[in-house]
Amino acid sequence: MYDAVVLAYGAESDRYLGVPGEDLGGIYSAREFVWWYNGHPDCSNVSPDLKNTDTAVVLGQGNVALDVARILLRPINELETTDIAEHALTSLRESTIRKVYLVGRRGPVQAACTAKELREILGIKDLHVCIQKADLLTSAADEEELKKGRIQRRVYELFSKAATSHQQHDIVGQRELHFMFFRKPDRFLPSESGNTVSGVRLEKTCLKENGASGKQVAVGTGQFEDLKCGLVLKSVGYKSVPVDGLPFDEYRGVVPNMKGRVLSLDQAEHAIVEKGLYVTGWLKRGPTGIIATNLYCAEETVASILEDFKNGLLTPSSGSPKPGRQGLLQVLENKNARFVPFSGWEKIDTKERMEGELRNKPRKKITTWEELLLAVDG
Ligand code: NAP
Repeated sequence: MYDAVVLAYGAESDRYLGVPGEDLGGIYSAREFVWWYNGHPDCSNVSPDLKNTDTAVVLGQGNVALDVARILLRPINELETTDIAEHALTSLRESTIRKVYLVGRRGPVQAACTAKELREILGIKDLHVCIQKADLLTSAADEEELKKGRIQRRVYELFSKAATSHQQHDIVGQRELHFMFFRKPDRFLPSESGNTVSGVRLEKTCLKENGASGKQVAVGTGQFEDLKCGLVLKSVGYKSVPVDGLPFDEYRGVVPNMKGRVLSLDQAEHAIVEKGLYVTGWLKRGPTGIIATNLYCAEETVASILEDFKNGLLTPSSGSPKPGRQGLLQVLENKNARFVPFSGWEKIDTKERMEGELRNKPRKKITTWEELLLAVDG
């Protein structure tokens, strides 16, 4: 249909931890939780129970981990004026969760979050932040890492400041945020009923330099401790999903590419360029980087498309132009497929904003496919 197609569908699945008990009730991936509070129709039924416990454990210390912890810890009156889904707001209003543990397998020097996001969570009103001062001790290898990484240095400084600053800790029902470093999940512990999670067994770790990557990696020490909780959010990274017939690197979870040009293997296992097919974003590099990283990534792919166009690689050899959008619409019609054009998305957007305005919020999310399609028809 087109001379060039760009795959930009991101990473909509989760990395699996692969530890016993991972399927117990009360354990969610951070992605499911984020989709739930953002009103994604596929997760409006997730409904995590926030009333059976006072403690939640978040595994991982990246920006997504900080995002989900922040939602659990922020005062409800601050969330009421955001575009958070109504069902999530109702649950959070009744939430009994007062303690959130953010657990990282490495130390504060290696935490995957960035400074702006860390500052935001540390700045939550009346929050008691707990960081063990002993965890802030640095090795020679840590000092090397800090010297090289500006972001890491700023993050580490924020942790150090939070660990030493005086905080008021006598407010009734005060919420607590505990940063736990050097701990990796060993197994999830079942409650008496056997169906839901009642805690996480953590193995203490130490850091060892990995010759191949030059990074410090977490190694188990054989010492364990149990952390009681009624909710676990696994925030250890997203994963892209393959599409039938497209090249996909299962190990790295990306579409193999050269500067955004999709590569496949010929019969002799040599990499060949899939003419006219490109990739960008998390599907191209893996699920890392902030919005700006994706801008640079997209620029690289666009540059490859322009170069191929200039070199005549995208011009149809037959000379007849590709049908483009008209051809695509024809296929959808032949298949009797329901689709939403951009004008339909605009109708959804207008309805959400109008309903939000009545409630003093940026928008009121529509959270079921049925209602979304009704808004398109309206
Ligand atoms: P991430 O930054 O890659 O963090 C993943 C975390 O999970 C790390 O702490 C990692 O520890 C840990 N982890 C991975 N595998 C593990 C395992 N098997 N056991 C224990 N811990 C494990 O991923 P993310 O938080 O999902 O974020 C994805 C990307 O989106 C990031 O680049 C992030 O910055 C970006 N993002 C940005 C914003 C924003 O700008 N506001 C918001 C959300 C997300 P190790 O470091 O030891 O591997």
